[in-house]
Amino acid sequence: MNKVYPFALEKLPYSYDALVPVLGEDTLHFHHDKHMNAYVGNLNKALESCPDFQKLSLKELLTKIDELPQSVQNAVRNNGGGVYNHELYFSTIASPNTETKLSETLQEAIQRDFGGMEEMIAQLKQAAVGRFGSGWAYVVTDPDGKLSICSTANQDVPNLCKVLPLMTVDVWEHAYYLDYQNRRPDYVNEFITLINWDIVSKKYEDRKSCF
Ligand code: MN
Repeated sequence: MNKVYPFALEKLPYSYDALVPVLGEDTLHFHHDKHMNAYVGNLNKALESCPDFQKLSLKELLTKIDELPQSVQNAVRNNGGGVYNHELYFSTIASPNTETKLSETLQEAIQRDFGGMEEMIAQLKQAAVGRFGSGWAYVVTDPDGKLSICSTANQDVPNLCKVLPLMTVDVWEHAYYLDYQNRRPDYVNEFITLINWDIVSKKYEDRKSCF
């Protein structure tokens, strides 16, 4: 992703049909080309009038919202969060035919902090399915490598000063309605099979550079 204003929509790191049968081609076109694109455009629009803040990275913008002019705070929270969340979402999944693997370090951390992968996934699913309305569920790590599950509403992001999100589940209806209609639990169950553990492991191991 472009590191500062003007932010640009990045191409997906796979083809639009790569996630079939979990997520269809139409879902990816709408989700990436329309929904995510709108967040990018609206974030840039909000920053047009704030030259002093155009040099900030997305993370800096999201952690310094209170310092922005009040008139753009909501727009940056919603659209900047939308860009951050979708970038994370699309970049940490892969085709269900791609085999990816947990690193030993991450595997040990999952064992230590959840008692095992099954429990971590169970808690992630619960956070995703239990989120009322639109929002996100995440696996996050703190700088010391302690893992936890959290969830946000709308396009809010976790506290990026304290944790680094490693992956996320989008539970806005636009993420799954064409494929699963109202069956959010079915979507979440299938989505888990897309997680790119190679990338998630690398993010975990590189976490120190993100704080
Ligand atoms: Mn979305």
